[in-house]
Amino acid sequence: MVEIRDLHKSFGNLEVLKGIDFTVDRGQVICVIGPSGSGKSTLLRCVNLLEEPTKGTVLVDGADLTDPDIDIDAARRQIGMVFQQFNLFPHLKVLDNLTIAQRRVLKRGKAEAVRVARENLAKVGLEDKANSYPAQLSGGQQQRVAIARSLSMDPDLMLFDEPTSALDPELVGDVLTVMRKLAQDGMTMLVVTHEMAFARDVADRVVFMDGGVIVEQGPPSQVISDPQHERTKIFLRRVL
Ligand code: ADP
Ligand code: MG
Repeated sequence: MVEIRDLHKSFGNLEVLKGIDFTVDRGQVICVIGPSGSGKSTLLRCVNLLEEPTKGTVLVDGADLTDPDIDIDAARRQIGMVFQQFNLFPHLKVLDNLTIAQRRVLKRGKAEAVRVARENLAKVGLEDKANSYPAQLSGGQQQRVAIARSLSMDPDLMLFDEPTSALDPELVGDVLTVMRKLAQDGMTMLVVTHEMAFARDVADRVVFMDGGVIVEQGPPSQVISDPQHERTKIFLRRVL
């Protein structure tokens, strides 16, 4: 589903990604962990071309996103992204937040867009909030709305960048429950997170990044429970 080869990204003189290689198979969940500033967000942003790689290739579902001739909008449409900040439209009701891109980008009719929106609100346990405004919801509910909004676009791949980091601790669990369910339903997911219990239970593979490189990657039983590299051990000692 995703193949990243020798990915480099610089901002001016600062090289943030220094040759990243990994793959995500369809239906897999990959968790990316690592200290702040190690390049995790930049990596995700290269996967949906919010950043243009300096060098290397990013293949998503066979399409080379670094090919200048590719239809970027079409490629991006397959990819959902959920950020730390929920980025909902504050002036729109929840239901309208979920239908607007379906109608404008996918050209769905109103009835179908509403049907899909309600289906996805039910999936995240918020069917009763369709007519609320974002400000009337808790942070955890807003993040679940943001997930439902992404799902309404029928993505093949979901990217999550620290989706629970801005939430009060008691609201984290509900968001992680939704993500676990999504993983069980077979969604392909690339998740940057500091939630080690989630990574241990849900990830097929954990990627530990530090200083713009992948220091080690493997199943959680290896990377989290039995890390081989000193840098991984130091990081885990801090977060566990
Ligand atoms: P992480 O998500 O692991 O905390 P980031 O990918 O956000 O790391 O950032 C990695 C490094 O790249 C940091 O030093 C950050 O300051 C730098 N960086 C990120 N985006 C930009 C940008 N648009 N311009 C300049 N530097 C950036
Ligand atoms: Mg980040």
